This record gives sequence, structure tokens and C-alpha cells, in this order.
Amino acid sequence: MSAERSHALLSASSASRWLVCSPSARLEEQFPDVESDYAKEGSLAHEICELKIRQHFVKKQSAATYKKKLKRLQEDPLYEKEMDGYTDEYLDYVSGIVHGFDSPPYIAVEKRLDYSHVVPEGFGTGDCIIIGGDTMHVIDFKYGKGVPVKAEGNPQMKLYAAGALKEYEILYPVEKIMLHIVQPRNDHNNSGLIYKEELESWLNAVVKPGAQQAWNGEGEYRPSEETCRFCRAKATCRARSEQNLELAKEEFKKPPLLSAEEVGPILQKAKDLKAWAADLEEWALKEVLSGGTVPGWKAVEGRSVRKFADQDKAFQILACSGMIEEEMLYVRKPHTLSEIEKMLGKKEFRELLADQVVKPPGKPTLAPEEDQREPITLQTSAEEDFKEE
Ligand code: SF4
Repeated sequence: MSAERSHALLSASSASRWLVCSPSARLEEQFPDVESDYAKEGSLAHEICELKIRQHFVKKQSAATYKKKLKRLQEDPLYEKEMDGYTDEYLDYVSGIVHGFDSPPYIAVEKRLDYSHVVPEGFGTGDCIIIGGDTMHVIDFKYGKGVPVKAEGNPQMKLYAAGALKEYEILYPVEKIMLHIVQPRNDHNNSGLIYKEELESWLNAVVKPGAQQAWNGEGEYRPSEETCRFCRAKATCRARSEQNLELAKEEFKKPPLLSAEEVGPILQKAKDLKAWAADLEEWALKEVLSGGTVPGWKAVEGRSVRKFADQDKAFQILACSGMIEEEMLYVRKPHTLSEIEKMLGKKEFRELLADQVVKPPGKPTLAPEEDQREPITLQTSAEEDFKEE
């Protein structure tokens, strides 16, 4: 991968935002695009993926050169051993696709994909493109472990597919496109099929007009929990603020008690309220810390916990005092499952300990109806009650 992944104004990764809230792209321009540590960690993992895929499928270099390059990446302060397991998982996934063809397919890695025929100045970077027969695979590696991302119908993936199609359709008779997202830290690898014709009609009917509107900074602001989550304007965006304040004003003043029928729609609308308040708080703190004014607010020192200025010295004093045995000063504590998995690497962990892992049921949590998990209840059936007795 190139050292830096540059971004278009209408980037594929933010398409799910600007296709819904079209003025967001221009509004975001006022805010610096700061790369978070998570993003830097993701870029490093992408570089390791690229190196591994190239070594296996594209241009083989000597084992010594490969090891040297891998070692250099592993020296990065953001590198963690578990990155090897996760990038191996990506390599396995790509291998599965490559070996599914009867004859060796065409493979491109970290490919710049130009989709400016449908989105002004649109381009992005596809992690891996594989083409054989009439099928093209577009694969995206996601190192984040937040929300699981679905490949099917995903605007980012479809824009990558548009760029890849433009690049390769002269050379290959592509009719079917498989979109894949490999998200190993979430155990969430998934794929979805789209036909070329279907993709083209989406590009013409939805993307072209939507992108033009976004490019011009026109259209309506459409705040929602999903749309605003990663928007750089999310803290001070007026539309988001008005929507949340309107909700607070109208819905919560209804007296005296809410019914379950009322609570459902309110929770739907309030999904963004908590996140918005937290974003505002974070923004205001930055503002006052940098010398600005936010009427009614100031920065203060938060709660702090006492600690020894020099722990070794304090323990030495205690040991010399004879008042407490040295071993009483330490607690022997097992590492958590995640910490051990991190130390060993995912693959090795699975090989050694897969039989030892159990997953107890999670704490009940409220989820919207469309959530894919099975609904649960704490009510026992009459049959179960009888069994107990
Ligand atoms: S914060 Fe939300 S509503 Fe405001 S511009 Fe961004 S996406 Fe649109």
C-alpha cells in the first residue's frame, strides 16, 4: 500500500453519509481530517495484508526480502502480535477465493479505483480485486472492531465495484460482482452478490444525482444516529442539534406517564440523543481548553485517584517496617481470555484452546426490531416451571 491513503471529497467510505445527507461533504470541509490512532493502526494492518497477499499471489520476492519488510512493519509502535493472526485470516479468505477458480484469476492489490464517471473527482483504494471468467470479487479488509459491516448493498463496496468495473470491463467480460468484507476482529466476514446491470442502474438512478447534489453542497441535512456517527461536523451541526432539541422539547414533556406504545417510537428517535450530547460535551471541552468561551461552562480538573509517587520505594518502606509480609503486597491475577489471545495470536489461541472456551449468554440488552439476533425473554414457560418443581 502507498504510505498514505488519500481521500476524495466524496469518498467511497463516506458514501453512506453523503448519499443521505448531501450537504455534509461540503460542511465537513471546514474541519480537519485528523487520523485517529485506530485509523493509523488500521493502515498498518492494511500494509501487512498487502505484503502478505503480494508475496503469495502477485510478485514473489525472496523470502529474505519479505521477512525484512515484515519485520520493519512489526517494529511499528502500533504493531501487536494479534495483527499477524488477523492478517493471516485475511490471507486465508483471499486464498479461498483465488483457489475457487479453475484457472489462476487476475489479482490486483491496493488498487486505486477511479469512479469519477459517476461521482465528481471520485476515487478510492480497493484492498483486493480478483477477476476470473465473468466474476469479479471486490474485497475490503476492515481492522476496526466496532460495528460489524455488511457487504451486501454497501455503498462503499458498490463504488469500489464501479471503479473496478470501469478499469477492467474492457479486458474481462464481468457480469457478476461479489462484494466481500473481511472484519476478523469482529469474527464478521461476509459477502453479497450484485449483477453488473443492477450496479449500473443504482449508479445512474441514485449515485449520479446524489453525488452532484453533494458536490454542490445542496440538498437537505438528514441527521440520524447512523448518518452522523462519523461526520466531522457532528458536534456543532445545527440540523442535528435542532432535531435532537426538538425531540427533547416535544416528546419528553408529554404528561404524565408514557405507554409502551409511546416508548417504542421515542426510543427510535432518541437513538442519536445520547451520542449527540457526548459529542457536544467533547467539543465544548476542547473549545474551553484552547482558550475559547462556551457560556455557562468551564474546564476543571476531573476526579483523581491517589497513588504512590514511587511504588518501589513505598513497598521497600513497608517491607522494612516488618508490619506486613512482602507477598501480601501483591495480587496474583490471571490474564483475561482476550489478553491471552492477544499474546498468542488468534490462530495459535484457537489451535490450543478452542475446546476450553465457552460463551455464556450476554446481559439482556434492548435492540431495535430489525436487529438480527433472536429475541429473548426472562419469562419461563409453564412447562419449564413444572420441570423445575
Ligand atoms: S452531523 Fe449529521 S446532519 Fe449534520 S452534516 Fe453531518 S451527517 Fe449531516
